[in-house]
Amino acid sequence: MENYKTQSPIPGSPVVPQTFDGSKEIRFQCRKGIACWNACCSNIDISLTPYDILRLKRRFEMGSGEFLQKYTVPYEMEQNSIAGVKLRPVANGTACQFMTAEGCSVYEDRPTACRYYPVALLSMRKQDEYTDRDSYALVKEEHCLGHNEPRQITINAYRKEQGVEEYDELARGWRQLILKKKSSGPSVGKPSKRSLELFFMACYDLDRFRTFVASEGFCELYDLPAEEMQKILSDDTELMLFGFRFLKQVLYGENTIPLKADAAEQRQKHYQEKVQRLEREAAEKRAAEQDGMYEI
Ligand code: SF4
Ligand code: SF4
Repeated sequence: MENYKTQSPIPGSPVVPQTFDGSKEIRFQCRKGIACWNACCSNIDISLTPYDILRLKRRFEMGSGEFLQKYTVPYEMEQNSIAGVKLRPVANGTACQFMTAEGCSVYEDRPTACRYYPVALLSMRKQDEYTDRDSYALVKEEHCLGHNEPRQITINAYRKEQGVEEYDELARGWRQLILKKKSSGPSVGKPSKRSLELFFMACYDLDRFRTFVASEGFCELYDLPAEEMQKILSDDTELMLFGFRFLKQVLYGENTIPLKADAAEQRQKHYQEKVQRLEREAAEKRAAEQDGMYEI
């Protein structure tokens, strides 16, 4: 078993200051009838993944725009200025809108963070590694009595029991985009408004992204076989996964989607013009410096 000892990220936080791999055994059970029933859903701070939104909007047979407006609030993740979305609590309160006396009213489609609780997923990438590794933290909040229940379970078995694996698999591309942004650090600076908006649309506002992908301008630029395009436009999950591919290309310059020949030519021409302009400016600067030397 591999453990990474860490400091608690937030002093006084309920996060146990240690990280674990999936073989870690925890003591926990949440069950109806427990004295703290619904305590966790009465005061929420739940970030949503793109797949969480997809599942919930599908459940409510709603467009993504309407769902986002009614049930979420946007936020910027950490200082890295990545667009994120959280569940919106009830008006003038802190409880989840989906909480009922019987429990979660969207249980089959509940978000990843609700499935994981009291475990938290930590995705990380070490500087010298090309793959992401998952590790886990444990959250122990005073109000949660599930930690006193007499059941031992490994984190891996708990993830299976809670149906987290599918959710994690389908959010992998999104997590990679976030890790990439985090590892690019402050040197890259705050992303432009345009890239924040593109990220938001492709990750969270799927129906608007579908219209964007089906647009004439998009089809003129990207070289996608008609069959693939049809699959992307007719299936929300395919569209979401395509969104991650698209963002890798537009935000990080990876060649994930082929460009049409003339578009690639245009891009090459644009690049050459930029290089020529930089060379011209450098030559002008050199000449000006030489003039200055002669003046002395
Ligand atoms: S979605 Fe369900 S489990 Fe998650 S906070 Fe809301 S009521 Fe609780
Ligand atoms: S045991 Fe924990 S997770 Fe379950 S209802 Fe109580 S507070 Fe919520």
